[in-house]
Amino acid sequence: MSKSKIIIIGGGASGLVAGIISARNGAKVTIIERKDKIGKKILATGNGRCNISNTDIGKERYHTENQVFDMYEEVFAQCDLSKIIEFFKELGIDVVELESGKLYPMSLQASAVVDVLHLELVRLKVAIITDQEVSSIEYADQFKVITSERTYYGSHVILAAGGKSTPDLGSNGTGYALAEKFGHTLTKVYPSIIQLKTDFPYLRSVKGSKVEGIISLYDDNELIATASGEILFTDYGLSGPPVLDISRIASKRINQGLTSSVQIDMLPCFGDLDAYLIKRINLASGKTASELLIGLINKRLIMPVLKSVDIDIHKKACDITKSERQALVKALSALSMNVTGTNQWNQSQVTSGGINLAEIDSKTLASKIIDHLYICGEIMDVDGDCGGFNLQWAFSTGYIAGLYASGGISENNN
Ligand SMILES: Cc1cc2nc3c(=O)[nH]c(=O)nc-3n(C[C@H](O)[C@H](O)[C@H](O)COP(=O)(O)OP(=O)(O)OC[C@H]3O[C@@H](n4cnc5c(N)ncnc54)[C@H](O)[C@@H]3O)c2cc1C
Repeated sequence: MSKSKIIIIGGGASGLVAGIISARNGAKVTIIERKDKIGKKILATGNGRCNISNTDIGKERYHTENQVFDMYEEVFAQCDLSKIIEFFKELGIDVVELESGKLYPMSLQASAVVDVLHLELVRLKVAIITDQEVSSIEYADQFKVITSERTYYGSHVILAAGGKSTPDLGSNGTGYALAEKFGHTLTKVYPSIIQLKTDFPYLRSVKGSKVEGIISLYDDNELIATASGEILFTDYGLSGPPVLDISRIASKRINQGLTSSVQIDMLPCFGDLDAYLIKRINLASGKTASELLIGLINKRLIMPVLKSVDIDIHKKACDITKSERQALVKALSALSMNVTGTNQWNQSQVTSGGINLAEIDSKTLASKIIDHLYICGEIMDVDGDCGGFNLQWAFSTGYIAGLYASGGISENNN
């Protein structure tokens, strides 16, 4: 039975799981959360449904700036997907698989996930302090954790303060400063799983239109990332799942001062689009160029697409020249625009970069710099793809940090 007195900084996904595991292991646990409630970000996950994890967990789904990522194997050897599914099952949450391996709570309610975590923390008599931001931590023979309201003392600290993404939901980057004060270093942090700004000149008129297509990211002419699905045009640029999927690489390049462009294939279903357009033009007796495209792409996209290749919208479809038709094929299958930026931190779902992994023990998640300090969740230099991978990382690392901070041996659930 652990005699640890553990203070957890951050009542998010990783901190709540760490609290449950360490309290089950006998530790006296206090969670300190800067917002008025715990688990606020969880409530926003998966559009309020909480995409808890994914059946396709694999190392290639996670990213780090560190050269060595043996932490992946160490973490998932101790707490993999099945362990997290079991953990939630015991709390009353069965999971259901929806599209492409994504797992959700059966009720499709993120609030259910927060509720069961909260109920278990209460049952385990974990002290939950809200509305207090930790501004400083000191360590002599024990930890002194200072908040806006008072000072807390503990034998161990678990730093679970998240990254910088969506500060409105709690994680505002203050955790980095706490770690740095202890001598930890950070890799460069930048927003990921985020919408992209582009220089497409007709954004205002196409705003709100969607295409089921493929988006490809380029460094000059070199393809560097691609993803498919529903792409949404907005007044600043592009959004939608495939855009979020390629955003990590685009955002990193922006951060490095590198330029990128994207090409959108709006009609990937046509193998030979030119042959298809010839047939369509032959059937379009009396139609104009813009009428030719009605029913093929979103109507709001027709005028910008034709303008981008200098085809008069009133021109008779049958008068479209071969070179104009070929330019149209290019615009429909590779609509090109430069990436000019990303949206702000408040729109990003995850932070890339963070506390250097070389300074954290891969197995126990203990700091290699300060004894009895443990680090878990998004604050570390690890981020996952969109689709449940980030919550899985937060839950798994929270589980491990909670286990080792409280003694490291018990699998006892009571
Ligand atoms: C809109 C949105 C949707 C998402 N959807 C999904 C999804 O469906 N599936 C998925 O896998 N991932 C999703 N994510 C990502 C996922 O939510 C995060 O990766 C995960 O919550 C990180 O957990 P964490 O515990 O490390 O950090 P957080 O959840 O950010 O928790 C950190 C907590 O620490 C508190 N805190 C920070 N600093 C201090 C301080 N100094 N003192 C006291 N408290 C502090 C914060 O208020 C916060 O509550 C989404 C993210 C967003 C923003």
